[in-house]
Amino acid sequence: MQASFKTTCCYCGVGCGIVVHKDRQGKLHVEGDKTHPVNKGMLCSKGMNLHYTVMDTSDRLLYPEMRYHRNLSRKRVTWDQALERTAAVFTAIIKKYGPDAVAFYASGQCLTEEYYVVNKLIKGFIGSNNIDTNSRLCMSSAVAAYKLALGEDAVPGTYDDIELADCIFVAGANPAWCHPILWRRVEAAKAANPALKIIVSDPRATQSCAIADVHLQVNPGTDIVLHHAIGRILITAGHIDSSFITAHTSGFEAYKTSVMQRSIGEAAAICGITAADIYTAAEYIGNAKGFMTMWTMGLNQSVVGVNKNLSLINLHLITGHIGKPGSGPFSLTGQPNAMGGREVGGLSNLLPAHRVLNNPEHRKEVAAFWGGTTLSDKAGLTATEMFTALHEGKLKAIWIMCTNPLVSLPDARLAEAALQKAKFVVVQEISSKPETLQYADVVLPGAAWAEKQGTMTNAERRISYLTKITDAPGEALPDAEIIYRFAQKMGYHGFDYTNMADIYAEHCRLTAGTRIDISTLNYETLKEKRSVQWPYQSGNGTPRLFTDHQFYTDNAKAVIHSFDDENKSEPTTRERPLILTTGRIRDQWHTMSKTGKVSKLKQHISSAFLEIHPEDARQRNIQAGDIVEISNSRGTVRVKAQLSSTIKQGVVFLPMHWGKILNNDLHRANNLTNNLLDPISKQPDFKYSAVQVQRY
Ligand code: SF4
Repeated sequence: MQASFKTTCCYCGVGCGIVVHKDRQGKLHVEGDKTHPVNKGMLCSKGMNLHYTVMDTSDRLLYPEMRYHRNLSRKRVTWDQALERTAAVFTAIIKKYGPDAVAFYASGQCLTEEYYVVNKLIKGFIGSNNIDTNSRLCMSSAVAAYKLALGEDAVPGTYDDIELADCIFVAGANPAWCHPILWRRVEAAKAANPALKIIVSDPRATQSCAIADVHLQVNPGTDIVLHHAIGRILITAGHIDSSFITAHTSGFEAYKTSVMQRSIGEAAAICGITAADIYTAAEYIGNAKGFMTMWTMGLNQSVVGVNKNLSLINLHLITGHIGKPGSGPFSLTGQPNAMGGREVGGLSNLLPAHRVLNNPEHRKEVAAFWGGTTLSDKAGLTATEMFTALHEGKLKAIWIMCTNPLVSLPDARLAEAALQKAKFVVVQEISSKPETLQYADVVLPGAAWAEKQGTMTNAERRISYLTKITDAPGEALPDAEIIYRFAQKMGYHGFDYTNMADIYAEHCRLTAGTRIDISTLNYETLKEKRSVQWPYQSGNGTPRLFTDHQFYTDNAKAVIHSFDDENKSEPTTRERPLILTTGRIRDQWHTMSKTGKVSKLKQHISSAFLEIHPEDARQRNIQAGDIVEISNSRGTVRVKAQLSSTIKQGVVFLPMHWGKILNNDLHRANNLTNNLLDPISKQPDFKYSAVQVQRY
């Protein structure tokens, strides 16, 4: 007999609905959920092959393992042995060095329940804010910008705005590959309404440019200059909404002064595009009745990531295109549950339900709810700061949960050296492949997608329920259960959960009275409705925020911020004249611990490569297919060259997915990336590192 289950794809932040069919032998097969409001039955290549990641258990971690010394190999132990020893080591370190000597580094792929329990454990009971996730690498700049401009980390719009927009500006993103089903909706909207104008800004002419009316092939790091130039043209041409600006914003006059400082010709020269193209883009925006922007890592992963975000949001605030159908600044979440993680406060500077860490009332409120210890007012270490602190000996123990930092962190060799120095490393993982495992003193096997239940929130604030469909292999456990069992071994009260529904109910209660209130939500409602958008009181929740133009700042006005347009990235030099940018390819996901084992997903691109402009290649006597060495002071990468005139001259591109292959780490892009961070969001500058390239 065959059974069918409705669930949600666990890869990107689009959040597509999936139907999983399970046959009598337990074999799984997936198809898109035709009734799901996000994807309406469509799935991309990754989603269509999701079942293979569960059915092939050859790489899975099956049992807890432990070692007493780095020179010894790990041995299989029971769950009790692993968690009791870990609790003993954590207790000893906390007693000797204080609570800030331990940290948890988690993932935007964790379910909301998992985030909730680990956040409660460290902030509410251990007494440190040292929890951060790989979402820090992904969208912390967008979070900070939303808060600064709108008063809250809140995506104003909904995917249904795509079909209502008449201009969509995609800035520093390639959704055709990285958010494929969302992009299918944009393509369909353009096909149905050819008057819909698509603007793409990107140093590479990606697949997303195929339907663009104008591609602004900017130099890396010049986004603020471009956005300010568009702002200037809109103001000069009168394409602004003066009554909206007066009634609902502050800061316009300073912004106007700031964008008028650079002529359009000057801006065009800095961006490396024509003034005519900037005027065209501004005209499309100025004439639009519905104007959406979409962006991801090109803006976020920058040393000035917050200002890049703000400069784009400003275009909405001066034109009044926010809180209206077909309009709004839409940050496309990279990971499936980065937003759910923020709902529970799962970053080092956040508290649950978007409460504020440096607000004493909020800390008191949360501490009283949890019934543990006093919450620390000191912001915890962010992702890269954790590894720097390990390297400096300030942080003694780290628990790495569902992420592979030795491939995904910038300056990966520093991260490697940090883990070598750590006194104690716990790795909670599904796969035996990630590089991080070689440094683990304790390994805890986690259950994967379809092997556990829980919830996730996609990029449009849509909370979905994920069903348990099959048992986890060996003794692997759901990640939330691993954490609450550990908390029990630490002797903490308040972790006597017996199921995920209880954890979710507790999280929902903690949102009561906040701007993300979902206090009336529960598993039963989610199972019945499949998904709702927060804040939720009834029906299907809230698709669009700020429809009354009352923003979440103290005076209810959105803030138009002003700042200079300088890029503060690592400068190129005579020795390192090329700008390295990194990113995703269509069929792989992050560090490939899931997609890397699906042979169908290797058919598109099977190995790492360097994309280089033919003129840059000619100057270096490089032919297509040659092995090239990309280098700087931090490290080296050796891969095949792929010559492409679709990349801007002076810029080279490496995919971020590959790590060590057969103990050779020369495919790892993050050997070369730098440690510069945005000063507000602490997001790394992955898109801009100075390198040299030569034939090997
Ligand atoms: Fe999954 Fe994203 Fe593809 Fe949808 S677009 S199927 S959520 S990877």
